[in-house]
Amino acid sequence: MPKYGFLGLGIMGTGMAANLVRAGFEVTVWNRSPEKTAPLVALGARVAATPKEVVEGSEITFAILSDPSAAEAVFFGPNGVLTGLSDGKGYVDMSTVDAGTSRRIAAAVAAKGGRFVEAPVSGTKKPAEDGTLVILAAGDRSLFDEAQPAFGKMGKKTMYLGETGGGAHMKLIINMIMGGMLTLLCEGIVLGEKTGLKPVDLLEALDAGALANPMFKGKGGMILAENYATSFPLKHMQKDLRLAVQLGDEAGQPLYGVAAANETFKRARGQGLGEEDLCAVYKTIKG
Ligand code: NAP
Repeated sequence: MPKYGFLGLGIMGTGMAANLVRAGFEVTVWNRSPEKTAPLVALGARVAATPKEVVEGSEITFAILSDPSAAEAVFFGPNGVLTGLSDGKGYVDMSTVDAGTSRRIAAAVAAKGGRFVEAPVSGTKKPAEDGTLVILAAGDRSLFDEAQPAFGKMGKKTMYLGETGGGAHMKLIINMIMGGMLTLLCEGIVLGEKTGLKPVDLLEALDAGALANPMFKGKGGMILAENYATSFPLKHMQKDLRLAVQLGDEAGQPLYGVAAANETFKRARGQGLGEEDLCAVYKTIKG
């Protein structure tokens, strides 16, 4: 059995690491706020005091952290991942970040003789718990192949998208589509309400036609129930929209819809909704 490390036990990491432990792998975990390691320890995981210690004791270390600055802090910071790397060790960063962040980490891993894969995920809290994420991987092919037993426990589908950057781009494009769709769904619900339609009827009509999709159904249902319990924090969606706008800049591609959605999410974040589920953007749109 390979020895795995896992860094970052937030909403996603807790479920993902738990699936590795339940599968019987030897897993060592670390989280900045140490109290979040307790449920994993109860399942049988070991705890280390620093990311360095995790990496030193593991063949492959996985991480899923908030954003580019968190990913870089855990990697380059004091007692960070970089300080524990040596020849042949694998590092798989599953955080949603921009390709530039991934490439900086990849270069530093390679300089230590290690191997790097970026592997952001599509799916939210429940798929993380159920092991049904979609894993969007890119980077070192040998590490990608070696990590399959772990990917197979965390996800229902794993894609290999070529050189480092391909996974980050795929993830940002998927999430910008999602953020744009959710913004339009909320605008549609609010416009319907203001013109005398029942939101429940709108959702039923959408679900019966070509626009039916699990996101409208799930998030639409939560909005109707005024349930904003966090699966995907709104602040992280705004981060993804910001990074997608930046990617559009770099590629010279206008992204009018994404830029507008980003402004709406920025406003929602400014109104203090960042820790709520992303569907709380409805409250901002409703005004
Ligand atoms: P989360 O619950 O906010 O967890 C964030 C994790 O990052 C926590 O472990 C947190 O540690 C850690 N962290 C933040 N800043 C740090 C720093 N400076 N140094 C060390 N650790 C730091 O977020 P999440 O929902 O699990 O999301 C994690 C990543 O997955 C994000 O990139 C997100 O965009 C992506 N993602 C999320 C979803 C979703 O539905 N939730 C779906 C797909 C992808 P503490 O516990 O100490 O705060």
